[in-house]
Amino acid sequence: MKEADAEKHGKKRVKRSPEYGERVSSCRTEVYLSGWGRWPVVKTYTEHPHVITSLHKIVDESQGRTILARGEGRSYGDAALNPEGCTLLTSNLNRVLAFDDQNGILRCEAGLTFQKIAELFIPRGWFPMVTPGTQFVTIGGAVAFDVHGKNHHIDSSFCCHVRSLTLLTASGKHLFCSRTENSDLFWATVGGMGLTGIITEVEFSLRRIETAYIRSRTFKAKNLDEAFQLFNQHDSEYPYSVAWIDCLASGDSLGRSIVMFGDHARMSDLTVQQKNRPLDIGRKRRFTVPFDFPSGILNRFTVGSFNTLYFYKHMGRERHSIIDWESYFYPLDFLWDWNRLYGKRGFTQYQFVVPLETSRVAVSQILELISRKGWGSFLSVLKRLGQQEGWISFPFPGYTLAIDMPIKAGLWELLDELDQVVMEHGGRVYLAKDVRLKPDVFRRMYPEFEKWIEVKRSIDPENLFSSALAKRLELVTHSV
Ligand SMILES: Cc1cc2nc3c(=O)[nH]c(=O)nc-3n(C[C@H](O)[C@H](O)[C@H](O)COP(=O)(O)OP(=O)(O)OC[C@H]3O[C@@H](n4cnc5c(N)ncnc54)[C@H](O)[C@@H]3O)c2cc1C
Repeated sequence: MKEADAEKHGKKRVKRSPEYGERVSSCRTEVYLSGWGRWPVVKTYTEHPHVITSLHKIVDESQGRTILARGEGRSYGDAALNPEGCTLLTSNLNRVLAFDDQNGILRCEAGLTFQKIAELFIPRGWFPMVTPGTQFVTIGGAVAFDVHGKNHHIDSSFCCHVRSLTLLTASGKHLFCSRTENSDLFWATVGGMGLTGIITEVEFSLRRIETAYIRSRTFKAKNLDEAFQLFNQHDSEYPYSVAWIDCLASGDSLGRSIVMFGDHARMSDLTVQQKNRPLDIGRKRRFTVPFDFPSGILNRFTVGSFNTLYFYKHMGRERHSIIDWESYFYPLDFLWDWNRLYGKRGFTQYQFVVPLETSRVAVSQILELISRKGWGSFLSVLKRLGQQEGWISFPFPGYTLAIDMPIKAGLWELLDELDQVVMEHGGRVYLAKDVRLKPDVFRRMYPEFEKWIEVKRSIDPENLFSSALAKRLELVTHSV
């Protein structure tokens, strides 16, 4: 793979950073990999196939090693890590297989990314029904965590729009799975974190768009009550909504936020210049974080100053604007390798959801705890979620809060404390961002886990498919 390609596929750090050394063995490459949070780093053996047919050989000849598919490595923790096992890099298995341009149904290999979909389909007037907050995510990764976007309260999660998928299982069979065929396996694979097999193909719907722009309406909320009020008032009018929240603010300002609503712009919303090329995807410059920042640079003072500046940068209480698709959906993607801002020790994201009824109390309790202990982050996001899809999919009706935190002394104790608050309110933590949840806490948070483990056991009795997360949460050793 050329260096440029490697960068595009997010594998750059494997090649460059000293702690990510590479050594080629006879047929496998020994590498040190991490998730997006850069902790933990584990030794694994990678395969990087170019065609789906070669997957059989990898499954047949696993020689006692466990296997795990990996997409773009954008899950934060240990879900895409397979220590001492075989990690199957899927970035070359990324072909578009069919597109029905009447109904917007796309069938593709699972290594295709949202970035590639945008590049190919926005100019044709189509956009994913659901997209996560970065475009460097594969369709396989989107299914394996049943990812949600800013429109979850209206359009649910990614898998709500998946019609079928094909799974290569431990027995070496390709199984077609949908809501009506092999349906148990379909529901166990949705949100199943790669542990039921290798997703090879997915068929899902795209939405029609008139333009590549978003009509955005932004409000400043002076505290949490006002933020919730704004969600209640406008959520049903807009498919997209999310709030950036200053989690270091306290007292009367606790939960002060910028609440953003949006919808796909129509031709009539555009300026004359934009109307000339309404579906132009444009090309923005990306900047790179050139080195690992010193650990500790993101402290209460720097984060607090950033948050205050960001809050006051938004002039007036309400603002309307037209924004290009990339700046709206993927603002962080303009800063390549932004995870290096947290230094070599890495970081994690604590994301939880709590039911609607308890959201106000639970979110303020958590914000108070974080603010009191000075752990605030400059990337904290509040959002209302809608219905749950898969058995162990994260979203359910309620509010979710996501907070980035550097790894340093005291973090794990704080997060254990937050788990207790989340559990007391009937909530759960998102495993795509997690790296430290305990098995018993996981089981209490995900009550439909028993259904999932039953399917996992019947389809993969020898636990060929495994991961660091699966071992940590005892998903591959647990007996009911
Ligand atoms: C900046 C940023 C913003 C994000 N925003 C959101 C968001 O808004 N909403 C949200 O829900 N998530 C969000 N995420 C999390 C991300 O969407 C998920 O972690 C997603 O699963 C990552 O996809 P990936 O291709 O990088 O997969 P990886 O991280 O490489 O793998 C994730 C899981 O998918 C499995 N997997 C990957 N490919 C396959 C396959 N072909 N077959 C079987 N299993 C497979 C892996 O085994 C692993 O368990 C965000 C992450 C980042 C870094």
